[in-house]
Amino acid sequence: MIELSFEFFPPKDQPGEERLWQELTQLRSLSPKFVSVTYGAGGSTRERTIRVTEEIGQRTGLDTVAHLTCVGSTQSELSEVLDSYKGAGIKEVLALRGDPVGGPLATWESTPGGFDHADQLVKLAVEKGLGVGVAAFPDLHPASNGNVELDLETLLRKEEFGATFAISQFFFEISSWERLMNQLEKAGSNLKLIPGVMPVTNVKQIVKFAQLSGTQIPDKTRTRFEAVAEDEKAVRELGVEIAAELCTQLLELGCKSLHFYTMNTAEATVKVCQSLDLGK
Ligand SMILES: Cc1cc2nc3c(=O)[nH]c(=O)nc-3n(C[C@H](O)[C@H](O)[C@H](O)COP(=O)(O)OP(=O)(O)OC[C@H]3O[C@@H](n4cnc5c(N)ncnc54)[C@H](O)[C@@H]3O)c2cc1C
Repeated sequence: MIELSFEFFPPKDQPGEERLWQELTQLRSLSPKFVSVTYGAGGSTRERTIRVTEEIGQRTGLDTVAHLTCVGSTQSELSEVLDSYKGAGIKEVLALRGDPVGGPLATWESTPGGFDHADQLVKLAVEKGLGVGVAAFPDLHPASNGNVELDLETLLRKEEFGATFAISQFFFEISSWERLMNQLEKAGSNLKLIPGVMPVTNVKQIVKFAQLSGTQIPDKTRTRFEAVAEDEKAVRELGVEIAAELCTQLLELGCKSLHFYTMNTAEATVKVCQSLDLGK
Protein backbone atom coordinates (compact mmCIF):
# COMPACT_ATOMS: atom_id res chain seq x y z
CA MET A 1 0.00 0.00 0.00
CA ILE A 2 1.54 3.32 -1.07
CA GLU A 3 1.06 6.13 1.45
CA LEU A 4 0.02 9.39 -0.17
CA SER A 5 0.28 12.84 1.39
CA PHE A 6 -0.68 16.25 0.08
CA GLU A 7 0.73 19.67 0.79
CA PHE A 8 -1.31 22.87 0.90
CA PHE A 9 -0.53 26.47 1.63
CA PRO A 10 -2.76 28.71 3.77
CA PRO A 11 -4.99 30.73 1.40
CA LYS A 12 -4.58 34.50 1.45
CA ASP A 13 -8.28 35.35 1.58
CA GLN A 14 -11.78 34.00 2.16
CA PRO A 15 -12.47 32.93 -1.49
CA GLY A 16 -9.14 31.07 -1.45
CA GLU A 17 -10.20 29.32 1.72
CA GLU A 18 -13.53 28.26 0.19
CA ARG A 19 -11.65 26.82 -2.81
CA LEU A 20 -9.28 24.99 -0.49
CA TRP A 21 -12.16 23.18 1.22
CA GLN A 22 -13.47 22.05 -2.20
CA GLU A 23 -10.07 20.83 -3.40
CA LEU A 24 -9.50 19.06 -0.08
CA THR A 25 -12.77 17.19 -0.49
CA GLN A 26 -11.56 15.80 -3.84
CA LEU A 27 -8.13 14.87 -2.53
CA ARG A 28 -9.58 13.28 0.58
CA SER A 29 -11.14 10.59 -1.63
CA LEU A 30 -7.57 9.37 -2.32
CA SER A 31 -7.29 8.41 1.39
CA PRO A 32 -4.08 10.30 2.18
CA LYS A 33 -1.98 9.23 5.14
CA PHE A 34 -1.67 12.91 6.03
CA VAL A 35 -1.96 16.41 4.66
CA SER A 36 0.57 19.11 5.42
CA VAL A 37 0.17 22.86 5.57
CA THR A 38 3.02 25.27 4.88
CA TYR A 39 3.93 28.11 7.22
CA GLY A 40 3.68 31.57 5.65
CA ALA A 41 6.99 32.87 4.34
CA GLY A 42 8.52 35.26 6.83
CA GLY A 43 5.89 34.25 9.36
CA SER A 44 3.79 36.98 7.67
CA THR A 45 0.55 35.05 7.59
CA ARG A 46 1.03 33.49 11.00
CA GLU A 47 -2.47 33.83 12.43
CA ARG A 48 -4.22 32.57 9.29
CA THR A 49 -1.72 29.73 8.90
CA ILE A 50 -2.29 28.50 12.41
CA ARG A 51 -6.08 28.78 12.14
CA VAL A 52 -6.32 27.06 8.73
CA THR A 53 -3.91 24.31 9.78
CA GLU A 54 -5.96 23.57 12.88
CA GLU A 55 -9.22 23.77 10.92
CA ILE A 56 -8.08 21.30 8.23
CA GLY A 57 -7.59 18.66 10.88
CA GLN A 58 -10.88 19.46 12.55
CA ARG A 59 -12.96 19.65 9.33
CA THR A 60 -11.55 16.63 7.52
CA GLY A 61 -10.44 14.36 10.35
CA LEU A 62 -7.21 13.85 8.36
CA ASP A 63 -3.89 13.73 10.17
CA THR A 64 -2.33 17.12 9.62
CA VAL A 65 1.37 17.87 9.67
CA ALA A 66 1.91 21.54 10.50
CA HIS A 67 4.97 23.21 9.01
CA LEU A 68 6.72 25.68 11.28
CA THR A 69 9.66 27.98 10.50
CA CYS A 70 12.05 29.92 12.70
CA VAL A 71 11.71 33.14 10.64
CA GLY A 72 11.03 36.26 12.66
CA SER A 73 10.02 34.43 15.86
CA THR A 74 11.56 34.18 19.28
CA GLN A 75 11.93 30.80 20.94
CA SER A 76 9.03 31.52 23.25
CA GLU A 77 6.80 32.45 20.30
CA LEU A 78 7.74 29.20 18.56
CA SER A 79 7.03 27.38 21.78
CA GLU A 80 3.57 28.97 21.91
CA VAL A 81 2.77 27.95 18.32
CA LEU A 82 3.82 24.38 19.06
CA ASP A 83 1.61 24.37 22.17
CA SER A 84 -1.28 25.71 20.15
CA TYR A 85 -0.84 22.94 17.53
CA LYS A 86 -0.67 20.34 20.27
CA GLY A 87 -3.82 21.76 21.83
CA ALA A 88 -5.58 21.47 18.46
CA GLY A 89 -4.76 17.76 18.26
CA ILE A 90 -1.88 18.06 15.79
CA LYS A 91 0.65 15.35 16.50
CA GLU A 92 3.38 16.04 13.96
CA VAL A 93 5.20 19.13 12.72
CA LEU A 94 7.66 19.78 9.91
CA ALA A 95 10.46 21.76 11.58
CA LEU A 96 12.10 24.20 9.16
CA ARG A 97 14.39 27.16 9.31
CA GLY A 98 12.38 28.96 6.65
CA ASP A 99 13.74 31.26 3.98
CA PRO A 100 15.25 34.66 4.81
CA VAL A 101 12.80 37.56 4.70
CA GLY A 102 14.35 38.78 1.41
CA GLY A 103 13.66 35.42 -0.28
CA PRO A 104 15.43 32.05 -0.50
CA LEU A 105 18.60 33.52 -2.01
CA ALA A 106 18.96 36.39 0.49
CA THR A 107 21.29 36.28 3.52
CA TRP A 108 19.78 34.80 6.67
CA GLU A 109 19.13 37.34 9.42
CA SER A 110 18.87 36.21 13.01
CA THR A 111 15.91 37.18 15.17
CA PRO A 112 17.01 38.16 18.69
CA GLY A 113 15.98 35.33 20.99
CA GLY A 114 15.18 33.09 18.04
CA PHE A 115 16.73 30.11 16.27
CA ASP A 116 19.14 30.16 13.33
CA HIS A 117 18.73 26.58 12.18
CA ALA A 118 16.00 24.02 11.88
CA ASP A 119 17.83 21.52 14.09
CA GLN A 120 17.17 23.82 17.10
CA LEU A 121 13.46 23.79 16.32
CA VAL A 122 13.57 19.99 15.96
CA LYS A 123 14.89 19.78 19.53
CA LEU A 124 12.18 22.07 20.88
CA ALA A 125 9.35 20.21 19.14
CA VAL A 126 10.69 16.83 20.24
CA GLU A 127 10.89 18.09 23.84
CA LYS A 128 7.19 18.89 23.60
CA GLY A 129 6.42 15.32 22.62
CA LEU A 130 5.53 16.08 19.01
CA GLY A 131 6.49 13.84 16.09
CA VAL A 132 8.96 15.78 13.95
CA GLY A 133 9.76 15.78 10.27
CA VAL A 134 12.28 17.93 8.40
CA ALA A 135 13.17 19.08 4.89
CA ALA A 136 15.51 17.11 2.60
CA PHE A 137 17.05 18.27 -0.66
CA PRO A 138 17.73 15.75 -3.45
CA ASP A 139 19.31 18.55 -5.51
CA LEU A 140 20.98 19.99 -2.36
CA HIS A 141 19.95 23.06 -0.38
CA PRO A 142 20.68 26.21 -2.42
CA ALA A 143 22.96 27.54 0.38
CA SER A 144 25.10 24.39 0.42
CA ASN A 145 27.02 25.52 -2.70
CA GLY A 146 27.14 21.97 -3.97
CA ASN A 147 28.56 20.60 -0.71
CA VAL A 148 26.94 17.16 -0.56
CA GLU A 149 28.53 16.27 2.77
CA LEU A 150 27.25 19.47 4.43
CA ASP A 151 23.69 18.74 3.34
CA LEU A 152 23.94 15.18 4.63
CA GLU A 153 25.43 16.27 7.96
CA THR A 154 22.59 18.77 8.43
CA LEU A 155 19.98 16.09 7.82
CA LEU A 156 21.66 13.54 10.06
CA ARG A 157 21.96 16.07 12.90
CA LYS A 158 18.21 16.61 12.76
CA GLU A 159 17.69 12.87 12.98
CA GLU A 160 20.06 12.76 15.94
CA PHE A 161 17.92 15.46 17.61
CA GLY A 162 14.80 13.33 17.17
CA ALA A 163 13.33 13.90 13.69
CA THR A 164 11.85 10.68 12.35
CA PHE A 165 10.90 11.61 8.81
CA ALA A 166 11.98 13.96 6.03
CA ILE A 167 9.97 15.30 3.12
CA SER A 168 12.00 16.19 0.09
CA GLN A 169 12.05 19.34 -1.96
CA PHE A 170 10.51 18.69 -5.39
CA PHE A 171 12.89 17.28 -7.98
CA PHE A 172 12.78 15.83 -11.49
CA GLU A 173 15.88 13.68 -11.76
CA ILE A 174 15.61 10.23 -10.22
CA SER A 175 19.41 10.04 -9.85
CA SER A 176 19.24 12.94 -7.34
CA TRP A 177 16.81 10.93 -5.25
CA GLU A 178 18.93 7.78 -5.48
CA ARG A 179 22.01 9.71 -4.34
CA LEU A 180 20.25 11.00 -1.24
CA MET A 181 18.68 7.63 -0.45
CA ASN A 182 22.01 5.82 -0.81
CA GLN A 183 23.84 8.41 1.31
CA LEU A 184 21.34 8.07 4.14
CA GLU A 185 21.45 4.29 3.95
CA LYS A 186 25.25 4.29 4.02
CA ALA A 187 25.19 6.58 7.07
CA GLY A 188 22.90 4.10 8.87
CA SER A 189 20.01 6.58 8.97
CA ASN A 190 16.52 5.44 9.95
CA LEU A 191 14.83 8.61 8.69
CA LYS A 192 11.72 7.87 6.69
CA LEU A 193 12.45 9.73 3.46
CA ILE A 194 9.33 10.86 1.58
CA PRO A 195 9.78 12.12 -1.99
CA GLY A 196 8.13 15.45 -2.82
CA VAL A 197 6.51 15.45 -6.27
CA MET A 198 5.36 18.60 -8.04
CA PRO A 199 3.01 18.08 -11.00
CA VAL A 200 3.87 21.10 -13.14
CA THR A 201 0.91 23.23 -14.23
CA ASN A 202 2.68 26.43 -15.25
CA VAL A 203 6.10 26.61 -16.92
CA LYS A 204 7.12 30.12 -15.82
CA GLN A 205 6.17 29.32 -12.23
CA ILE A 206 8.15 26.09 -12.09
CA VAL A 207 11.26 27.73 -13.56
CA LYS A 208 11.07 30.39 -10.83
CA PHE A 209 10.40 27.86 -8.04
CA ALA A 210 13.30 25.72 -9.27
CA GLN A 211 15.69 28.68 -9.24
CA LEU A 212 14.66 29.59 -5.71
CA SER A 213 14.71 26.09 -4.27
CA GLY A 214 17.87 24.81 -5.95
CA THR A 215 15.94 22.19 -7.93
CA GLN A 216 17.56 21.20 -11.23
CA ILE A 217 15.31 21.01 -14.27
CA PRO A 218 16.99 18.49 -16.58
CA ASP A 219 17.42 19.61 -20.21
CA LYS A 220 15.17 16.84 -21.47
CA THR A 221 12.35 17.96 -19.14
CA ARG A 222 12.86 21.62 -20.05
CA THR A 223 12.73 20.77 -23.77
CA ARG A 224 9.48 18.84 -23.37
CA PHE A 225 7.85 21.77 -21.56
CA GLU A 226 9.20 24.34 -23.98
CA ALA A 227 7.60 22.45 -26.85
CA VAL A 228 4.11 23.04 -25.38
CA ALA A 229 4.73 26.22 -23.36
CA GLU A 230 2.15 28.29 -25.27
CA ASP A 231 -0.66 25.80 -24.69
CA GLU A 232 -1.86 25.85 -21.06
CA LYS A 233 -3.84 22.63 -21.35
CA ALA A 234 -0.94 20.78 -22.97
CA VAL A 235 1.40 22.03 -20.22
CA ARG A 236 -0.94 20.66 -17.55
CA GLU A 237 -1.20 17.31 -19.35
CA LEU A 238 2.56 17.09 -19.73
CA GLY A 239 2.97 18.05 -16.06
CA VAL A 240 0.82 15.08 -15.07
CA GLU A 241 2.69 12.78 -17.48
CA ILE A 242 6.13 13.80 -16.17
CA ALA A 243 5.05 13.55 -12.52
CA ALA A 244 3.60 10.09 -13.19
CA GLU A 245 6.87 9.02 -14.84
CA LEU A 246 8.83 10.16 -11.78
CA CYS A 247 6.41 8.42 -9.41
CA THR A 248 6.76 5.20 -11.43
CA GLN A 249 10.56 5.39 -11.11
CA LEU A 250 10.25 6.04 -7.37
CA LEU A 251 7.90 3.10 -6.89
CA GLU A 252 10.26 0.88 -8.90
CA LEU A 253 13.02 1.85 -6.45
CA GLY A 254 10.81 0.63 -3.62
CA CYS A 255 9.37 3.93 -2.35
CA LYS A 256 6.34 3.34 -0.20
CA SER A 257 5.20 6.95 0.08
CA LEU A 258 4.64 9.93 -2.21
CA HIS A 259 4.12 13.53 -1.13
CA PHE A 260 2.44 15.87 -3.63
CA TYR A 261 2.87 19.62 -3.78
CA THR A 262 -0.74 20.37 -4.74
CA MET A 263 -0.54 24.18 -4.95
CA ASN A 264 -4.05 24.01 -3.43
CA THR A 265 -5.45 22.45 -6.61
CA ALA A 266 -6.58 18.84 -6.71
CA GLU A 267 -6.79 18.17 -10.45
CA ALA A 268 -3.18 17.39 -11.39
CA THR A 269 -2.50 15.32 -8.26
CA VAL A 270 -5.73 13.35 -8.70
CA LYS A 271 -4.82 12.62 -12.35
CA VAL A 272 -1.31 11.43 -11.46
CA CYS A 273 -2.69 9.14 -8.74
CA GLN A 274 -5.44 7.81 -11.00
CA SER A 275 -3.00 7.10 -13.81
CA LEU A 276 -0.94 4.98 -11.40
CA ASP A 277 -3.96 3.43 -9.72
CA LEU A 278 -2.96 4.89 -6.34
CA GLY A 279 -5.10 6.03 -3.44
CA LYS A 280 -7.79 3.38 -3.25
C1 LIG B 1 9.32 19.70 2.28
C2 LIG B 1 9.62 21.17 2.48
C3 LIG B 1 8.69 22.00 3.08
C4 LIG B 1 8.94 23.36 3.26
N1 LIG B 1 7.99 24.13 3.86
C5 LIG B 1 8.22 25.45 4.07
C6 LIG B 1 7.25 26.26 4.75
O1 LIG B 1 6.20 25.79 5.13
N2 LIG B 1 7.53 27.58 4.95
C7 LIG B 1 8.73 28.14 4.52
O2 LIG B 1 8.93 29.34 4.71
N3 LIG B 1 9.67 27.38 3.90
C8 LIG B 1 9.45 26.06 3.67
N4 LIG B 1 10.40 25.28 3.05
C9 LIG B 1 11.66 25.91 2.60
C10 LIG B 1 12.76 25.90 3.69
O3 LIG B 1 12.33 26.65 4.81
C11 LIG B 1 14.01 26.49 3.07
O4 LIG B 1 14.53 25.62 2.10
C12 LIG B 1 15.09 26.96 4.04
O5 LIG B 1 16.04 27.75 3.30
C13 LIG B 1 15.89 25.83 4.67
O6 LIG B 1 15.17 25.22 5.62
P1 LIG B 1 15.81 24.00 6.45
O7 LIG B 1 14.77 23.58 7.39
O8 LIG B 1 16.39 22.98 5.54
O9 LIG B 1 16.99 24.81 7.20
P2 LIG B 1 18.32 24.35 7.96
O10 LIG B 1 18.34 22.90 8.25
O11 LIG B 1 18.50 25.28 9.09
O12 LIG B 1 19.43 24.61 6.86
C14 LIG B 1 19.63 25.91 6.31
C15 LIG B 1 21.11 26.11 6.03
O13 LIG B 1 21.83 26.16 7.25
C16 LIG B 1 22.84 25.15 7.30
N5 LIG B 1 22.80 24.59 8.66
C17 LIG B 1 21.80 23.84 9.19
N6 LIG B 1 22.04 23.56 10.48
C18 LIG B 1 23.22 24.14 10.79
C19 LIG B 1 24.00 24.24 11.97
N7 LIG B 1 23.63 23.66 13.12
N8 LIG B 1 25.16 24.95 11.93
C20 LIG B 1 25.56 25.55 10.80
N9 LIG B 1 24.86 25.50 9.63
C21 LIG B 1 23.72 24.81 9.61
C22 LIG B 1 22.43 24.13 6.26
O14 LIG B 1 23.53 23.44 5.74
C23 LIG B 1 21.72 24.97 5.22
O15 LIG B 1 22.63 25.53 4.32
C24 LIG B 1 10.19 23.91 2.83
C25 LIG B 1 11.14 23.08 2.21
C26 LIG B 1 10.86 21.73 2.04
C27 LIG B 1 11.89 20.85 1.36
